Amino acid sequence: MGLALYRRYRPRTFAEVIGQEHVTEPLMQALRTGRLNHAYLFSGPRGCGKTSSARILARSLNCERGPTPEPCGECDSCVALAPDGSGSIDVIEIDAASHGGVDDARDLRERAIFAPVSSRFKVYVIDEAHMVSSAGFNALLKLVEEPPDYVKFVFATTEPDKVLGTIKSRTHHYPFRLITPGVLRPYLEKLCAIEGVKVEPAVFPLVVRAGGGSARDTLSVLDQLIAGAGPEGVTYPRAVALLGVTDVALLDEMCDALAAGDGAAAYGTIDRVVEAGHDPRRFASDLLGRLRDLIVLQQVPDAAGKGLLDAPDDELTRMASQAQRFGPATLSRLADIVHDGLTEMRGTTAPRLLLELICARMLLPGADDSAGALLQRLERMERRLAATGEPPTPTSTPTPEAPQTRTAPQNQPEPQGTTAPQSKPEPPSQAEPQDDRDNGEPQAAAVAVKTAAPERPGVLDAVAVRRVWEEILGYVGRKSRRVGAVAREATVREVAGDTLVLLFKHRVHAEMLAGGPELLIEAVYEVLGPPAPDRAWQVRCELSGQAVSPGTASDQGPKPPVPPAQSRRDAPAAEPDWPTTAPPGGAAPAPRPDPSPAPATAPRKAGGRAAGNGRKAAAEPAEEPPDEPYEGFDPGDEPLDDVLDEQTVRQTSEEQALQLLRQTLGAEQIG
Ligand SMILES: [Zn+2]
Repeated sequence: MGLALYRRYRPRTFAEVIGQEHVTEPLMQALRTGRLNHAYLFSGPRGCGKTSSARILARSLNCERGPTPEPCGECDSCVALAPDGSGSIDVIEIDAASHGGVDDARDLRERAIFAPVSSRFKVYVIDEAHMVSSAGFNALLKLVEEPPDYVKFVFATTEPDKVLGTIKSRTHHYPFRLITPGVLRPYLEKLCAIEGVKVEPAVFPLVVRAGGGSARDTLSVLDQLIAGAGPEGVTYPRAVALLGVTDVALLDEMCDALAAGDGAAAYGTIDRVVEAGHDPRRFASDLLGRLRDLIVLQQVPDAAGKGLLDAPDDELTRMASQAQRFGPATLSRLADIVHDGLTEMRGTTAPRLLLELICARMLLPGADDSAGALLQRLERMERRLAATGEPPTPTSTPTPEAPQTRTAPQNQPEPQGTTAPQSKPEPPSQAEPQDDRDNGEPQAAAVAVKTAAPERPGVLDAVAVRRVWEEILGYVGRKSRRVGAVAREATVREVAGDTLVLLFKHRVHAEMLAGGPELLIEAVYEVLGPPAPDRAWQVRCELSGQAVSPGTASDQGPKPPVPPAQSRRDAPAAEPDWPTTAPPGGAAPAPRPDPSPAPATAPRKAGGRAAGNGRKAAAEPAEEPPDEPYEGFDPGDEPLDDVLDEQTVRQTSEEQALQLLRQTLGAEQIG
């Protein structure tokens, strides 16, 4: 047992190299077919098999029965070039870290002209090739470009980017990678079985993690553990003590404390980490690893089966339950904090203090106004709600009345003819066209559940509305950019009963919104639900404390927004210049000289749907035809307007282009 594990189990053929199939298979194929290059570049992290592969390549090239991907292992060359062999005079290994100067390169160049002594090829293995000085590289360049037939180069480097481009371009580049835990662990188990050493299964993940994906480092760690093992083999406690890896139990404690927001438990854990003699930095680094595992586990529940995670089954079960207790945004934020903390911990004289500060940052999302902290608070709120089983407000499960109250806002954007046949028979069918028209509705409903959730049903105040104001504006803006832009000017002042009071800075905006608040009301309903069961929202627009009626300003301004069917009927006297006299929000309606049947709905407040009058609302569409002159203002026409504009624009530009062609080239349109 004299030789170190990694030397004793150094691969002899490409087939024995683990975890680098993407490199070894094409190399073996090249050897098989004889398509050999005169220079190779093996790049990759340290300890993952570059130098071993370079030696294997030399062995494969020089085997008496070769070049072959499976060196015989019996001929003189194979024996000499075996991992425990004496070496061959024709295979020259150069460590560029110590021999990268121009003199070494010249020396190499001069000796390269001599033919190999006893082998087919003279193979130069240049390790740490990025350390060759540029003068050295230049001295080598000619040789690498046009070497004698019997000379082969293998450059190995951890930093292929630093290898001179002119040399790199003459080589076949094979990038080696870190070895995945899924490959390393079975390999370690096999080695231990061969060695006849008993190792507790929980030890392997520790070894793999300590090795960091490097076969050499991993085997060194295992070697050390085996060397210190007693008759009972390598036990988990001893591995933890030796490797300084944080005890999994402490990590579990910390994660549980973080998930519960339990500061006492978290600081208790830190105390135990220090008590047990663990390095706080190591603990933070392992905690980061654990958070990473939880993130992976959250995204890929079958992570263990897919080889993304390597942990004993009982630990996997614990981690799965931990992952469930965190929201994804929370986990990602915690990982960020620990990562930043690790950077700060580098070189600190008080690592414990820093660990405690990191802990404080993780525990107090409220002290942090970043988006991540905000998301974490939201997730916590949702979780708490789900935990207490509080009903998520009426919006999420509409009662039969809900569709009725909704018919009111629903009618406006609909083309006038279509609502009439649907309106009466059954409320559920009314909801359908709404769904068709508004494919964003599911999200809106989901939002309603989320955002309105913290409020108790029926207690919606201005704060609650402000909290979701952006949602509401977004909803309005999707339906009508114009109304959205106007609504954006408003500030939510208060919620007085069913009335949402909005404060404006400019009269023109207040008047415009007061003239057509239906879309906004619809949006508020979509996001927050009704103000109270069986009630409907109303909107009052105010200008420095005074209610504003839809005013004359909209005449000069952009097109007035969305006059609802009801408003139109309420103010028929002013039909030709509707916007100027449309009823003020909350004001008494203008008398109705219109000969068309004046229904009982006449004393309606503009903007506010009389509560619980779903039936009336349903009846209204039948009265719509007289309003036809106003169809240009119907919000349902808005998209059409846009399309028309686009067409016009396109036509205009086409015409312009044709005109230009005619003028400059005398071109004529064909057909
Ligand atoms: Zn051989």
